[in-house]
Amino acid sequence: MRDEAVSRIFEIASDEDRNFLFEHEAKKLCGLYGMPVTKIKVVETEDEAVEAASEIGYPIVLKIVSPQVLHKSDAGGVIVNIRDADGIREGFNRILKNVKANVPEAEITGVLVQEMAPDGTEVIVGSTKDPTFGPTIMFGLGGIFVEILKDVSFRLAPITRTDAEEMVREIKAYKILEGARGMPPADQETILDILMRTSEMLMECPEIEELDMNPILVYEKGAKIVDARVII
Ligand code: ADP
Ligand code: MG
Repeated sequence: MRDEAVSRIFEIASDEDRNFLFEHEAKKLCGLYGMPVTKIKVVETEDEAVEAASEIGYPIVLKIVSPQVLHKSDAGGVIVNIRDADGIREGFNRILKNVKANVPEAEITGVLVQEMAPDGTEVIVGSTKDPTFGPTIMFGLGGIFVEILKDVSFRLAPITRTDAEEMVREIKAYKILEGARGMPPADQETILDILMRTSEMLMECPEIEELDMNPILVYEKGAKIVDARVII
């Protein structure tokens, strides 16, 4: 049986007639399945943003929360690497100004304050639903590897640990995870763990039509999901 808190997330979205989860809801969901997400807080005012930032700790990333803005950076709705309270105040106002200019019809639900994850190897885990076979799981490296080279692996959920290992090893850019070209190796145990937990989440949440964790930053030890999108 799934956690009551998981059901609540979907209920709130459906009460609000949304066919998607906000980033903070999607991350809460992933967190309930034991995945490593950034610390986050949704705020409505500049003062609340400053307070949340000092609780979370600098550096900070601010992002827009709006039902009309699912691709946040396209709308000028993401500001990274904020170092202090003045930066939070300036960034808070800049995000609202950008979004109003770029998406005039956008309703502003709030601003998401989150910890800034250090640089790491970018990977993506996603899911779409096959009408006949149900949820699929996709794995790939971030950036050009997925967008241009389409270097990804797919399986139907649920997956076994062996499936997860094969998914990681069969992408062409696998060597990058091993630490090619002076890059540090990426923690493959953590990647396998995220794939297995994603599979469990998909099996327990038939509400999920699409999932996109992009990017996940992977370190020599551990990882951080810095963006998550869910369509229901
Ligand atoms: P979008 O909705 O445009 O996909 P993202 O949340 O993915 O917005 O943010 C855009 C980019 O900003 C990410 O691809 C990542 O490079 C960077 N970024 C976002 N959040 C964080 C974070 N918490 N820590 C570090 N980098 C981040
Ligand atoms: Mg993203």
